Amino acid sequence: MSKVKTRFAPSPTGYLHLGNARTAIFSYLFARHNNGGFVLRIEDTDRERSTKEYEDMLIEDLKWLGLDWEEFYRQSERFDIYREYVNKLLEKGKAYPCFCTPEELEREREEAKKRGVPYRYSGKCRRLSREEAERLKREGKPFTVRFKVPENRTVVFEDLVKGHIAINTDDFGDFIIVRSDGTPTYNFVVVVDDALMGITHVIRGEDHIPNTPKQILIYEALGFPVPKFAHLPVILGEDRSKLSKRHGAVSVRAYREEGYMPEALFNYLCLLGWSPPEEGREIFSKEELIKLFDLKDVNDSPAVFNREKLKWMNGVYIREVLPLETLLERAIPFLERAGYEVSDREYVKKVLSYTRDSFDTLSEMVERLRPFFVDDFEIKEELWAFIDDEKVYEVLSLFLERIREKKPETPEEVKKLVKDIQKTLKVKPPKVWKPLRIVLTGETEGVGIDILIAVLPKERIEKRVLRVIEKLS
Ligand code: GLU
Repeated sequence: MSKVKTRFAPSPTGYLHLGNARTAIFSYLFARHNNGGFVLRIEDTDRERSTKEYEDMLIEDLKWLGLDWEEFYRQSERFDIYREYVNKLLEKGKAYPCFCTPEELEREREEAKKRGVPYRYSGKCRRLSREEAERLKREGKPFTVRFKVPENRTVVFEDLVKGHIAINTDDFGDFIIVRSDGTPTYNFVVVVDDALMGITHVIRGEDHIPNTPKQILIYEALGFPVPKFAHLPVILGEDRSKLSKRHGAVSVRAYREEGYMPEALFNYLCLLGWSPPEEGREIFSKEELIKLFDLKDVNDSPAVFNREKLKWMNGVYIREVLPLETLLERAIPFLERAGYEVSDREYVKKVLSYTRDSFDTLSEMVERLRPFFVDDFEIKEELWAFIDDEKVYEVLSLFLERIREKKPETPEEVKKLVKDIQKTLKVKPPKVWKPLRIVLTGETEGVGIDILIAVLPKERIEKRVLRVIEKLS
């Protein structure tokens, strides 16, 4: 067989949806697993709904996910090629101009509805003679071009995921391949492109199964070899309906902005419908996935998207998988956007090294790490009850004294210091920890206070403690 080549063919009419991203990833993995080529083709023949902004964002998001491609095409730049192949079909009598007006077609459609049968074009213009058609064209009558579908033929294909599929041509009838404005339709251009680009495996969503017999007929009519097809099941939300905006964020971009790691999203999407050969394992690098991925391990029934699981997996990448330096690089823009001072990279790195196990996304990180970056916070009225106390005053004064003598630099040293304060003042641990937390963070829960004291520079601790002591005395 010729070298494997797959493609991802998005329409730039919206953000990259998780379902499409998974299609792109499966196509990519299948190509790379087979040392094959991968093509990105922008399907922008719908000039009204396609925009350059969406195209740019799609490309950016695919790159962010870690995909790369050797060939890139834009269908809007290939109209001449499509015209050439339309003419071939017209010359061979395998397609014909159709002059039926939208009103006539609407009438046919309504009639079918009344009779309770699925609509199919009547084939009226199929019977026009060449001369008649030429005359109508000369008169300037608008026309579409329809593909001549053989009657009552069962088109069969062996889908690599869905198995044996058979659809009878009487289910659809002669379909339009060029609109009256001269633009070719999806079912036609997809065949010309896949054939000319040498695509061996067409991997896409199962919503395209009804299109496949139409496309196979065009391959045959143009004398192109028919590629293999693999249709991927839809992704469902937790309520088992098709994953959509109703289920919350569904675009790659939304997850990116929320502070998800591309490696984690890539990994998670792979598990939506693909079962790794090694049971029980879930964390895979891209390289491992390339090695392991095979279409035969793709399930033929829908997968359910589990947001919590994705979040958990993102946490695993943040805590255990990614190098600290990578995490640092990705964290900085998020911290910066929150207005935190991040010019001291070593400081941020130290903070992350201690705290990376306490958040699952970078937006959670921003909240969680506030005490490391923000000195001017209010202590809520109701929390003063915990610190406005003579004993606490003593605790804070002694703490300040000790910090000034020698600031602890590790959480262990902080614990030792707190023990020492407890002993000296004969108080229980919460009488030290809780006030310290409130004084240093303004909250009653959050990041480990031993970590905060170990990492925060001495002057900033002093400042926070003094502020409270002054109010207490
Ligand atoms: N542009 C089509 C879509 O986004 C591509 C379908 C295909 O892969 O053939 O659904």
